[in-house]
Amino acid sequence: MQTAAPQKIYLKDYTPPAYLVDSVELTFKLAPTTTRVLSRIAFRPNPDAQSRDFFLHGEQLKLISASIDGVSITPEITATGLTHTVPNAPFVFEAEVEISPETNTALEGLYMSNGMYCTQCEAEGFRKITYYPDRPDVMSVFTVRIESDLPVLLSNGNPAAKGDGWAEWHDPWPKPAYLFALVGGDLVNHPDRFTTMSGKDVELNIWVRPGDDEQKCAFGMAALKKSMKWDEDVYGREYDLDIFNIVAVDDFNMGAMENKGLNIFNSSAVLASPETSTDANFERIEAIIAHEYFHNWTGNRITCRDWFQLCLKEGLTVFRDQQFTGDMRSHAVKRIDDAVVLRAHQFREDNGPLAHPVRPESFVEINNFYTVTVYEKGAEIIGMLKRLVGDDGYKKALDLYFDRHDGDAATIEDWLQVFEDATGRDLSQFAKWYSQAGTPRVSITDSYADGTYSLTLSQHTPATPDQDEKTPMVIPVAVGLLNDNGDEIVPTRILELTEATQTFTFDGLASKPVPSILRGFSAPVILEHDQTNAERAFLLAHDTDPFNRWDAGRTLAQDVLIQMVREDATPDTAYLDGLLALLRDDSLDPAFRALALSLPSQDDTAQALVDAGETPDPTAIYRAHEALTLHIAQHLQDTLPRIYADMMVTGPYTPDAVSAGKRSLGNRMLTLMSKLDGGKQASQQYATADNMTQQLAALASLLKIGKGADELAAFEQRWHHDRLVMDKWFGLQVSCAAPEDAAKVAAKLTEHPAFTMKNPNRFRAVFGALKGNTAGFHDPSGASYDLLADWLIKLDALNPQTTARMSTSFDTWKRYDADRQTKMKAALQRIAETPNLSRDTTEMVTRILG
Ligand SMILES: [Zn+2]
Repeated sequence: MQTAAPQKIYLKDYTPPAYLVDSVELTFKLAPTTTRVLSRIAFRPNPDAQSRDFFLHGEQLKLISASIDGVSITPEITATGLTHTVPNAPFVFEAEVEISPETNTALEGLYMSNGMYCTQCEAEGFRKITYYPDRPDVMSVFTVRIESDLPVLLSNGNPAAKGDGWAEWHDPWPKPAYLFALVGGDLVNHPDRFTTMSGKDVELNIWVRPGDDEQKCAFGMAALKKSMKWDEDVYGREYDLDIFNIVAVDDFNMGAMENKGLNIFNSSAVLASPETSTDANFERIEAIIAHEYFHNWTGNRITCRDWFQLCLKEGLTVFRDQQFTGDMRSHAVKRIDDAVVLRAHQFREDNGPLAHPVRPESFVEINNFYTVTVYEKGAEIIGMLKRLVGDDGYKKALDLYFDRHDGDAATIEDWLQVFEDATGRDLSQFAKWYSQAGTPRVSITDSYADGTYSLTLSQHTPATPDQDEKTPMVIPVAVGLLNDNGDEIVPTRILELTEATQTFTFDGLASKPVPSILRGFSAPVILEHDQTNAERAFLLAHDTDPFNRWDAGRTLAQDVLIQMVREDATPDTAYLDGLLALLRDDSLDPAFRALALSLPSQDDTAQALVDAGETPDPTAIYRAHEALTLHIAQHLQDTLPRIYADMMVTGPYTPDAVSAGKRSLGNRMLTLMSKLDGGKQASQQYATADNMTQQLAALASLLKIGKGADELAAFEQRWHHDRLVMDKWFGLQVSCAAPEDAAKVAAKLTEHPAFTMKNPNRFRAVFGALKGNTAGFHDPSGASYDLLADWLIKLDALNPQTTARMSTSFDTWKRYDADRQTKMKAALQRIAETPNLSRDTTEMVTRILG
């Protein structure tokens, strides 16, 4: 079916639904290409509506029959839905439609993955299941009957009844259609139980396909129970059904989905074992399980009025999962990890053609707005609010939010109102964080006279697409002061920057202090602070704020790299000596030391050069990174073996934060040692490792020095049966390839029998890694641009959502020299001109081209 011309939808055009739904009864008769869906929907006119037009969303549905109050009707059908005249009173609409899950490769709506039926409805997938007002502000109670000879049949809510070949589920909590879920398959479960704070017994299950996967559920189950307990302890939120099901699915467009009582997970985000998963996988799984569970309150019980409010549930829930991970592991390390992600991805988005406010004002395809800006910057806004109103104010506001809006489809205005009501604070200027796109830059000047230190902060946000004029934001800047000995003389306090320029003073100081600014990364801004390398090295050695201590090292490394790119310089010894002192300081957390020894990404260096008004050359940046890594290895070489040996964890593998931190620093040592010993230690680690973290790190160290062919073959031989491990095998070869080989390596992997573009994880393993290999992606030949464009064009016909997301690899095209720009633009235009290109990809490519 041809879809209508893409329409832009605007936040300002929101109108309430014409009809509300009191109850929904659905019957699914599952069959791979001819599933029948019978619906019985009780409608009533919405007293707040501005029109009485009856419209139900529906796409790619074959309507078999329809009726209103039992009388058969022939509604008008378009590419996007169904209309008909209806009574101006409550009525029952019934329909039977036919859909084909097996041929649904877009993985939206009801589809099949390895013989299992499953669904993905957020944001607008339910309209591919049946005719319905598919918008989040229409909430209803669902009763679902599934008919199939498959042994396991699941839906939302509590089990109601079952028999041979059928099962019924009833969800007592009103919900929008995007939270609907259904699973049917031959599955086995890993069961457990949880007793809630009020003593209610809840049945927990993680469902997987039969095979060795059952062994991989224990960690996820433990993470679920920790999440349930944490949400009770920290937010006072209790689970509200008798059962909580998680299902692992191999083919999934995203990480996981918080459907009420039936979370569906990408198998990569739930299955874990020491032999097959890295420490990073374990941490990610714990965080995603927590995130989806936390949505039960922030997303499900209180949902979004419309998709422009997506950050209402996502920003808050990401913030909550960040708090959880900090509590479970280390707040300092978590904050650094989050800042790394934000700077690498969100700042990049804010700096390019895809920049948009945390609450966008328009979209063509909402799937294109599940972005780092909505999620991660959305979470940063919550963190700033908490900093501004304090922990008590935050708690009061959240309690009021849950009290006032439980059962609502809410807005950002509702969210800010509870903070104003709970704390008395005026948030009208703060609200701009939701509407103004772009990363604010805060510049610093300071002076000292007669015991008074003056700090002048100025803010400026560069223009972004559709937003030329920017006004000052409320920016909480956490500042502490140190004396020359490195003692903290003024502990952290929050300066509220609300004007374009403001001066803050500190009295009674004996000498000019060294300022430590934006402690804990207190706002998602770029700091412009002219400091000498000696001052940065001083903060790297002495700052009492762990984030800023790390950041001083990172900024120093960035300056050193930029020097090296510009003039082939040798690195400043202040930096190398600072790293050595830090590495030898055994009082520091190994995880922290590992982070401090990591360089900024090559993409970060490219952006730093753009900020300095230069055109970055990815090849030169790559060479500078390689040269600096070698200098670091040489400067630290006497210490590397000692630390490497100290970081060896004895006894059986456990994924806890302390052991993971040690492995992280040990592996960092290994990478540096490999630069000097030709891979001797890495080969040995590969041969003896009993866990994936050390095995994969050893393989990466070897590949990065052009070795490891035998290990790569042995790895494939050992793990060819395991999809998730093979994703690592595919990805690592591309990410570790020399720049000039990256496109060739990726192209060759697409010919491997285990490569399939029907599986998003596999496609992302290869092409996500190609994007991540910055110099390889931007190799002057343009081979990577062409290869990615070829594959995106093929993938679009099957899976528009993943295609559109992967097209963002090109979003930095305007940064580069004329030759690279021409090549990237040609690749983008070739995608744009593809006949029948999806709405998702059309919107994305058009925005990137600008
Ligand atoms: Zn979420």
